[in-house]
Amino acid sequence: MRYISTRGGMDPVRFREAVIIGQAPDGGLLLPEFLPDVSSDLEGWRGLAFEDLAFEVVRLFADDIDDAVLKKILKDAFETFACEDRVPLVQLDGLNVLELFHGPTLAFKDVALQVLGGLFEHILGGQTGRLNILGATSGDTGSAAIAAVRGRPNIDIFVLFPEGRTSLMQELQMTTVLDDNVHCLGIDGTFDDCQELMKSIFNDLAFKEKYRLGAVNSVNWARVVVQVVYYIYAALKFKEPVSFSVPTGNFGNVFAGYLARSMGVPIDRLVLATNKNDILARFFETGIYARGTVQHTLSPSMDIQVASNFERFLYLYFNGDSERLVEFLETFHERGSANVDHVDSVEPLFLATSVGEEETVETIKSTYAAHGYVLDPHSAVGVAAASRFKLTSPLISLATAHPAKFPDAVNEAIGQEVATHAELERLVSQATRKTVLAADEHAVKNYLTENAR
Ligand SMILES: *Cc1c(COP(=O)(O)O)cnc(C)c1O
Repeated sequence: MRYISTRGGMDPVRFREAVIIGQAPDGGLLLPEFLPDVSSDLEGWRGLAFEDLAFEVVRLFADDIDDAVLKKILKDAFETFACEDRVPLVQLDGLNVLELFHGPTLAFKDVALQVLGGLFEHILGGQTGRLNILGATSGDTGSAAIAAVRGRPNIDIFVLFPEGRTSLMQELQMTTVLDDNVHCLGIDGTFDDCQELMKSIFNDLAFKEKYRLGAVNSVNWARVVVQVVYYIYAALKFKEPVSFSVPTGNFGNVFAGYLARSMGVPIDRLVLATNKNDILARFFETGIYARGTVQHTLSPSMDIQVASNFERFLYLYFNGDSERLVEFLETFHERGSANVDHVDSVEPLFLATSVGEEETVETIKSTYAAHGYVLDPHSAVGVAAASRFKLTSPLISLATAHPAKFPDAVNEAIGQEVATHAELERLVSQATRKTVLAADEHAVKNYLTENAR
């Protein structure tokens, strides 16, 4: 399988290289040259354990990785999950929840990042190479990336987070990891400052090359592929086509569902659920992609205005016409808004809607009252969004975080201390390490120069 750039300016590369480069040199995102059709494999995959299904799916895209090696990477990745079933489907009366949060940092990003960590180590090991990962996080991605690469011999990770602006639990999930190769950098600024710093350092190509800087953000193709697996896994638990409700920000998770359906998995509809940051919901309603200002919500991991994975969808929507895609992106960049011609033909598979704060709280409350089940605020956005549509197929709501990661919102909604997790409570008494830096490119570069290996 070979990978091309959405912007058309890159010679095709194979999977191993796609994983390491993350993003194409022309600024585009990587996509496979074609999507395999798995419809005739599905019956045979029914009943497979999650990692065995992951092996069958990922190998289609990673055909330059030895089967035995891939099996081992997947086995090691999912052994870090606290649940035998890895991603259990909880079936309540009238509500199906696919719990994706049983990995080490209790959010769905562990599913793909645990695999990515193993892939990095294997691919680099073969080249006796090193990689210095630089990432910016508002909370969840940083801890999941750290958990994925801690202690790996040929990787260092540097995570920029806004000092004092993540939740206590999110910070502790990063700073209590004391492995030598983990560097937590509290930046005196906002999450946007962290992202800007990361971007400008990556834009210094000489610096990037010299220190072999790599990225783990959600545009890495390997992350998308691993996420395809749980859509198939859950769909195979039903005899008829199913629908999914997906709380989304960067369009990463829901894009994986779109791919699964394009590969022949019987998916009826995908509910695209955003919080108040509704750029994606507006696009699918109106055909207009228009930037707003980021609003802070109870579901902070979806507080995003420009969805980094959306470019992949647009490329497929424009039938692989990179010129049209680039024109769209340039218009958006210049005017803050761009649109497609025919709203009606924007993928009818998606049912997109935006859920406000009050309804999120109300959904946490009513779900607890009806089912005794505790949703985190992100998962609640998905459940609330789905309830707005009349679906004829069974619905599966994706639960993207454990409620204990967001205890304030959850406990307040329910009126009891229900959002707890022993693993998180244990962190409070542990030793921590971090370095606080000014929101200044030179300060961060100096730190990297002194600490990168
Ligand atoms: C990252 C994240 C999301 C959004 O995922 P996307 O891939 O950006 O759509 C939703 N919920 C939680 C808990 C997250 O950490």
